[in-house]
Amino acid sequence: MGGFFGTVSTKDCVTDLFYGTDYNSHLGTRRGGMATYDREKGFIRSIHSLENAYFRNKFEDELPRFSGNAGIGIISDTDSQPLVINSHLGKFAIVTVAKINNIEALEKELLERNMHFAELSSGKTNPTELVSLLLIQGKNFVDGIENVFRSIKGSCSMLLLTEDGIIAARDQWGRTPIVVGKKEGAYALTSESSSFPNLDFEIERYVGPGEILRVRPDGIEQMRKPNEEMQICSFLWVYYGFPVSCYENKNVEEVRFACGYKMGQKDESEVDCACGIPDSGVGMALGYAEGKGVPYHRAIAKYTPTWPRSFTPSNQAMRSLVAKMKLIPNRAMLQGKRILFCDDSIVRGTQLRDNVKILFEYGAKEVHMRIACPPLIYGCPFINFTSSKGDLELITRRIIQEFEGDHTKNLDKYATTDSPEYKRLVQTIADRFGLSSLKFNTLETLIEAIGLPKCKVCTHCFDGSSHF
Ligand code: SF4
Repeated sequence: MGGFFGTVSTKDCVTDLFYGTDYNSHLGTRRGGMATYDREKGFIRSIHSLENAYFRNKFEDELPRFSGNAGIGIISDTDSQPLVINSHLGKFAIVTVAKINNIEALEKELLERNMHFAELSSGKTNPTELVSLLLIQGKNFVDGIENVFRSIKGSCSMLLLTEDGIIAARDQWGRTPIVVGKKEGAYALTSESSSFPNLDFEIERYVGPGEILRVRPDGIEQMRKPNEEMQICSFLWVYYGFPVSCYENKNVEEVRFACGYKMGQKDESEVDCACGIPDSGVGMALGYAEGKGVPYHRAIAKYTPTWPRSFTPSNQAMRSLVAKMKLIPNRAMLQGKRILFCDDSIVRGTQLRDNVKILFEYGAKEVHMRIACPPLIYGCPFINFTSSKGDLELITRRIIQEFEGDHTKNLDKYATTDSPEYKRLVQTIADRFGLSSLKFNTLETLIEAIGLPKCKVCTHCFDGSSHF
């Protein structure tokens, strides 16, 4: 997905920018970048690969090179950013959190209009450059950003570092968030509000869907009003978000706890304890334990000293190995127990198969699994989740393919909780992984836990409800 951070201040902003950007590291693994604007020196920018190192390690030595009262930073899952552009709108640096499904068509259109693409570092057109080219078609920034909103199929939130403050524009459907923070003499804008507490920012407000703000050290100017409709990604609360973060005033850990609590209250299975698969299953398991009235145990622990974040190599075999190496089962807590594990989701299922096998080998009597969200039936066209390899990456689709001979058939039936097709799908997943029982959260309970009206939240990957 990717995450960004920007700040404008009456003082030098480099330290806040460095740490604030780093606090978005769980959202991306490919590229990191920072740009500052200094009245004397102009724009200063740097980009590094994060494929074999962390943001902080890569940028720490370079910090003395940066200066200025305003800056933006990015942790990107795709392209090299920030880009620095000189245009009729003035000079600006840009970072985006975007997924552009019609990138090839837009690229063709722009090339036919004699535009060119300069940034081809990964062999393909850089989506952020494409956004910049669409943007500078406008007669001013608002007009240009509206052109981006109109043109792209997918989603795009962005920060622009200009010679006069930072312009923040949230995706027109609000699929990805932007949160504004404030402290004496400074503002910050970020994807993850977990970057605020240690930098002394307080949440000031949430940027609305399609809203455009210009933020200077002394205040916020609204350049475009938010749209009424919103489709914020529900998966932010389930999987992507850091527990401390809030989107639309709803805290990630609270939502995960509520998901587990509500499931625990309704669950009639007999178990000895609940346990979370680190990290995103822990909040749910704590809630489940309380709702069910069983103890919370750590029967599986994550080796944090050298696996501090969700490191995802592009190769599937390596990914599975890393996933396995990070989690260590604890025989003392597993032996002879009927254990219920909570996890955020089941995507491909590769990790789950290994985990269940190991848990039985380490003495668990029964292994039950509860999942924070409904089965993922539809690929995500909006935020690069389950991105490149198509819908058959999803375990649900592979099973539907086996059942129906066509993985696109009767999807609405498989997505309907407790329909015969849904029950058969869930039982097949449970059998395939040797689980004693498997239950997914219902969409209604997930929405209730998030606490926003269903119509404001994107649930497309569970029910195919967004038209695009
Ligand atoms: S389809 Fe799923 S992952 Fe994608 S934006 Fe919607 S809820 Fe989020």
